[in-house]
Amino acid sequence: MKLIKCRQPATCDTCKGEINKGDLYRKRTKSVGSPRKETVEYSDGYPSYVKHGFTYAIKLCEGCANEA
Ligand SMILES: [Zn+2]
Repeated sequence: MKLIKCRQPATCDTCKGEINKGDLYRKRTKSVGSPRKETVEYSDGYPSYVKHGFTYAIKLCEGCANEA
């Protein structure tokens, strides 16, 4: 995994420390539930897709990235 140079100040997801402009950080994706699972449910005769999870991106500061 590669460290990315920060362009916009952000907060580390692990230590809640600040990631300043120019610092190195690591991007990670986390998933909740099962994002790949989709089922079709019918309500009033119309099909609708229901997702069973989602993914979101987090940022880790350089220190936490090296520990992980
Ligand atoms: Zn951190």
